[in-house]
Amino acid sequence: MKVDRRSFFAGAAALGATAPLGGLADEAQGASSAIRSHGFFARRKYDHVVVGGGFAGVAAALASARAGAKTCLLERTNVLGGLSTQGHIIVFMPLCDGYGRQVTFGIPEELLRLPMKYSAAKPNGAWVDKKGTKKELSDKRYELVFDPGPMMLGLERALVDAGVDIFYDCSAENVVREGTRIAELIARCGAQRLLLAANAFTDATGSAALAQLCGEATVGGRTGNIPCGWYYVVDGERHIHLRCGAGKTLRKLDPAAARDYAGDDPDERSRHAIASRRAILLDIEEENKRRAALGQEPLHVFSIPTYPTLLKLARVAGEGASGPVVGIFSDWRRKGPVYPLRFGQLLVPGVSNLLAAGRCIACADEMWDVVRCLPACCVSGQAAGTAAALLPRGGSFASLDEETLRKRLVASGVRLDAELLKPDPEWKGGGEMREEGIF
Ligand SMILES: Cc1cc2nc3c(=O)[nH]c(=O)nc-3n(C[C@H](O)[C@H](O)[C@H](O)COP(=O)(O)OP(=O)(O)OC[C@H]3O[C@@H](n4cnc5c(N)ncnc54)[C@H](O)[C@@H]3O)c2cc1C
Repeated sequence: MKVDRRSFFAGAAALGATAPLGGLADEAQGASSAIRSHGFFARRKYDHVVVGGGFAGVAAALASARAGAKTCLLERTNVLGGLSTQGHIIVFMPLCDGYGRQVTFGIPEELLRLPMKYSAAKPNGAWVDKKGTKKELSDKRYELVFDPGPMMLGLERALVDAGVDIFYDCSAENVVREGTRIAELIARCGAQRLLLAANAFTDATGSAALAQLCGEATVGGRTGNIPCGWYYVVDGERHIHLRCGAGKTLRKLDPAAARDYAGDDPDERSRHAIASRRAILLDIEEENKRRAALGQEPLHVFSIPTYPTLLKLARVAGEGASGPVVGIFSDWRRKGPVYPLRFGQLLVPGVSNLLAAGRCIACADEMWDVVRCLPACCVSGQAAGTAAALLPRGGSFASLDEETLRKRLVASGVRLDAELLKPDPEWKGGGEMREEGIF
């Protein structure tokens, strides 16, 4: 549902907002003081509001804050990293093409290397220090297996250091439109509400929730969502291991429960969560039978995903195949292909000051499986944040100066050279497809 300014204020009065909306200080005073009075509407003004603290949202907020825009990020849970950190998705897919050449640079690489500050995680093979022959660098892909805790800590530190105001436990629940623009965003933080005015907004919700609140077209994903679970177990000596494949066990033992879930219906979301957890219980039971037969100690569940492990939610409709190239990423499934991210993929056609970032951007069906992974989510996040910082007051993203945007991206460490988009001469097309360990 969207509301215009007049009906929103009428609604606020009906709800009994006890503070005059204009009476609270407009200038941001930091997250802690913003939400202090029970039942009050607190009002803040920013240049850029990012909704969603997954990898895309973090990349967007970092990019705009570092470009000098006053930025805040709203996250409805209490930590950063979204589906990845809270869903135990702990493989940061590759930044290279598989032929020893890095193709993704900038904030995606910074975030891939972030857990190295707080843990012993290291990128694969020669990619640790990025030194090595072509052969050495093509032996392994430039990716990282990380633990969720250090990543969450690192993401938060990065935002705080960049001067981003983080609002945790804060859910965007409506927008106030003025023509084609979002004038203000209404967010619920516990019992309080925040009214956030901004020049630019980024929808990094993973489900195009902001675009949907604006009444814009999205496409959902009935296929691809089956129960899954990456969960941690401890052995008798309290050593922790990650286990994948719970969904496979459920499909084998109870095919009826292993069906597709749309992810856009409250009942289905809960059924998916319950089926995924049942999958974990069945998987550990099977594994412990196997271990008992070998005379081994049983394993015990240590930690399960706390975030819906739905691959596919809604995304902005269309393919967005137009506009300048604002990012480059490779294919995690096979070596060889390199793809451009086009600015048109970030646009939300009916809203002039809103961009999408992450797994909810517009893309062709066949590209979705690549676009949804962490490198591409960070690429689109950095592009959205950089564009948000450049948007003139009252301007429209559709008419943003493309060359200036590309120059700003390059100046902040992104590489956009056309050469990078040419596949390695050794790649003759096709190639073996790697399987994700999800099910
Ligand atoms: C089983 C599985 C395995 C996967 N394996 C891999 C893998 O190995 N490697 C890889 O790179 N990728 C993998 N992926 C994909 C990848 O994890 C996600 O697509 C990616 O993390 C999405 O990032 P995002 O920032 O776009 O969205 P999300 O991570 O979904 O973040 C969105 C954030 O927005 C917040 N939010 C939503 N609505 C609101 C609101 N109204 N107000 C405030 N906040 C809101 C959410 O709480 C969340 O934190 C996998 C996915 C699944 C399901």
